[in-house]
Amino acid sequence: MMRYCSTRDTEQKNVCTSAQAIKQGLASDGGLFVPLELPVLTEEFLQSLAGASYDVRAAKILKLFLDDYTEKELLEDCAAAYREQSFPGGAAPLVKVDDFSHTYSLELWHGPTAAFKDMALQIMPRLLSRALQKTGEDRTALILVATSGDTGKAALEGYRDINQIKIMVFYPVDGVSRVQKLQMATQEGDNVNVCAIRGNFDDAQTGVKCIFGDEEAAEKLKQAGYVLSSANSINWGRLAPQIVYYISAYLDLISRNELRPGETFNVCVPTGNFGNIFAAYLAKRMGLPIGKLICASNSNNILTDFLQTGTYDRNRPFHLTMSPSMDILISSNLERLLYFTAGSEKTAAYMKQLNTEGKYTVDADVKAAIDETFAGYFATEKQTEQTIHTYFERHGYLCDTHTAVALCCAAQYQNHTGDFAPMVVDSTASPYKFANDVYRAVTGEPASDELAALKELSSKTDTEIPYPLAGLAKRKVRFDTVIDAKDMLSEVYKYLGI
Ligand SMILES: *Cc1c(COP(=O)(O)O)cnc(C)c1O
Repeated sequence: MMRYCSTRDTEQKNVCTSAQAIKQGLASDGGLFVPLELPVLTEEFLQSLAGASYDVRAAKILKLFLDDYTEKELLEDCAAAYREQSFPGGAAPLVKVDDFSHTYSLELWHGPTAAFKDMALQIMPRLLSRALQKTGEDRTALILVATSGDTGKAALEGYRDINQIKIMVFYPVDGVSRVQKLQMATQEGDNVNVCAIRGNFDDAQTGVKCIFGDEEAAEKLKQAGYVLSSANSINWGRLAPQIVYYISAYLDLISRNELRPGETFNVCVPTGNFGNIFAAYLAKRMGLPIGKLICASNSNNILTDFLQTGTYDRNRPFHLTMSPSMDILISSNLERLLYFTAGSEKTAAYMKQLNTEGKYTVDADVKAAIDETFAGYFATEKQTEQTIHTYFERHGYLCDTHTAVALCCAAQYQNHTGDFAPMVVDSTASPYKFANDVYRAVTGEPASDELAALKELSSKTDTEIPYPLAGLAKRKVRFDTVIDAKDMLSEVYKYLGI
């Protein structure tokens, strides 16, 4: 039986099943759930997945971690999550983008919101719904999300029409783009609600946190048959599905004869909260022949500095960049890497220092263990724009701003080290999600406006607008409520009719 404990639980006192970890989200001591042992990828297991479709690969890999779920349940859930209708053409295609440097783009954005969060958020709600049943929970889970744009839409799409769950998303009325606002306002599904807040993202986030900490509200919700839950990216149910596509990419390289079984390849990940790259680390620890993991950052390069010096220091300016999903100063999932390289005692101490002083320095042996696998690079705004431009000009490959950061960092790593093993670069968003910036990078001219940029980019580059963004302007607006942040809780009650 696979057991999970908190990254800060030095005595492993509170172990639980995967269903409990998924239902609970965050451990009660503030740490993150991690598996006590890692499953091993055997040659036979990998071979058995070689000819399988993405959903079957996902179910069999998830079964290694979620062994309190039956294989039938996981096959059913993965088939529904990664169906052709949601991921036309397949869930995680691997596209060769540069022959000379052996660079591949692992496109994780073919899902219903055109960004990589779909890879986890299409399956996680189904796992949560089962976790409620498995743990004997008869209340309805109420998911509250404060969003600056992308996560809210991906969560709405993931949780829509899922059993025993309702979701409500709050966003700052002037803090998201026009496309993002339209995406959320036109959301379909019988168990969803969307509400704009007068204020900024912090006001929305603080409002949600207040509701989570409000005992009176918890009691009232409980009486009405609801239990609060979050769609947070530190939930194990969001992390485990991300391991799948690294194994899938390896299988695809083998089947196309671009790699021999057991031969190593490198992976470069545009990193924010450190979830995606940590999933790659777990795949490596399970025996997948990954050589180096390149952690790519934008000018918020706190992780580059950490990997170079061993000091994590959040006392620094925050930059707004054109890769906003990586504009982050606290990478929560880094705590899981610390657990695996330093153990829970040191992890608890580092996290305490981060809380009190805003920084910590890892011991030399911990740094050495991290150095063995990780390398950190960053791309400036100018380099990001140039990368989009040259990749399109030279290779005919159109990429978004986050992917460009990673492509730039992958090249820096290769030039720096001379290591030209096949390089898999995570492509985390469709270029159309950031059509304005991508259009400007490709043409050198600004687009006329955000919605028009979609069409202009399409005709300029002869590529197609992905289905989630096409026809957006014509969809029916279902949600147009705007409230003050102080009225969020009453809006929740109103939605639930209590
Ligand atoms: C969330 C996100 C990232 C960062 O992923 P982490 O798992 O938080 O490191 C990168 N790119 C895009 C487009 C994202 O939405």
